[in-house]
Amino acid sequence: MTERRLEGRLIALGVTGSIAAYKAAELARRLLDEGAELQVLLSRSGREFIGPLTFETLTRRRVLSDPLELLGDGRIAHIVVADSADAIVVAPATARWIAAMAAGLSDDIITATCLASAAPVVVAPAMDGEMYRHPATQANLERLRGYGYTVVPPEEGALASGQRGIGRLAATESVLDAVAASVADRPVRAPEPAARPPQEETVREPDLAGRRVVVTAGGTAEPIDPVRFIGNRSSGKMGVAIAQAAMARGADVTLIAGTVNVPLPEEAEVVRAETAEAMRSAVLKELARADVLVMAAAVADFRPSRAQARKLERGAALALELESTPDILAEASRMVREGRVPGRARGVEGPGRRTVLVGFAAETGSLERAAAKLASKGVDLLVANDVSDPASGFGSDTNRVTVLGRGGSVEEWTILPKREVADRILDRVVALLETAVESARSGSKVSTEMSA
Ligand code: C5P
Repeated sequence: MTERRLEGRLIALGVTGSIAAYKAAELARRLLDEGAELQVLLSRSGREFIGPLTFETLTRRRVLSDPLELLGDGRIAHIVVADSADAIVVAPATARWIAAMAAGLSDDIITATCLASAAPVVVAPAMDGEMYRHPATQANLERLRGYGYTVVPPEEGALASGQRGIGRLAATESVLDAVAASVADRPVRAPEPAARPPQEETVREPDLAGRRVVVTAGGTAEPIDPVRFIGNRSSGKMGVAIAQAAMARGADVTLIAGTVNVPLPEEAEVVRAETAEAMRSAVLKELARADVLVMAAAVADFRPSRAQARKLERGAALALELESTPDILAEASRMVREGRVPGRARGVEGPGRRTVLVGFAAETGSLERAAAKLASKGVDLLVANDVSDPASGFGSDTNRVTVLGRGGSVEEWTILPKREVADRILDRVVALLETAVESARSGSKVSTEMSA
């Protein structure tokens, strides 16, 4: 398995006009495999050798080529990259680009980004052997080293000219190692997705086509009186990200929304349910047709035993009596396991039809209670996060989660955009849906053999 040395990082990959530009596509793939997000900067002559579409398909980011280019929201593109990239790697780097960089001439997108950036820079030259040996090139490379840049020297071998010499772009592995080393001791510079150049809407395999995914999002508001309520700080961002990610993968989505402060996707079937009780009714109703239930909502665990019909008057003090709310997820899970979901015929729990259940656990501090929750709620996956951590707190665009599986697996994921967390959870869900089909198939095979 690939080491993921660049998990959560944004790497800017500069590609200049050398025949070795095609090798940059492989480097891009390997950087992604290491967990990085990528922004490709393709010089004008680089575009003569390799098309932007290759990189855009790989990276889900528009390739940048012009130092004057603006992002959709008006920000200057190369400044956003300069400020957010954890490292800039220029591979292949031509003699011209190295000279321009040595002189600080910011007339192409890559020099402009490097000049504006405090990120470490890795340069992998590729050129004809004579060009590489030329004192001008050597002096320029020396200057780049003087700036603190890492130069990954070219290798000896057959060159585009047909001659042999030193000038072949270094092996992808060596460039990768240099990039990993350049960021190893540094914190992630800009984890917030909004600080990075924007990603295009993901084009995914429709691996949830024909599936109904029911997602709950947001908090609940438990009435004290007609004016006041007990609520929580959940924004709904995580649940909405799951709904959007599921729709992008072809699912039919029901979004059961409590109190939220983000826009709800119009393409989803939205059901509003602002109290634990309303959410319970909505979830149990939807369960009849759900292939997947993801309870991302922060449902109140306690509510006032009695909501006052009239607004409470000001007074010296007020003692509220609270009662616990029904645990919706535990109830849904019992129904699914016992095959008694209202409105769902017993036989429906056939091949691939058992509802996959995903719970969330918001904790403050230790996640020790998460494993017990996985068992008590009877879910397939439990996604636990520490909401006292600003990177995974309520309202944040990122989340740092630990994912527990029913078989005892525990995966700690690094800090990721909520949409990425959503897609990774759905990867697990798709695998669980497939296992359900497999086990149902092998189960029916066994029973046929036994009856024969
Ligand atoms: O027990 P705790 O509230 O930490 O459990 C969190 C998980 O259980 C979440 O998935 C949440 O949506 C769900 N939950 C529920 N019913 C409740 C409280 C929480 O389904 N009353």
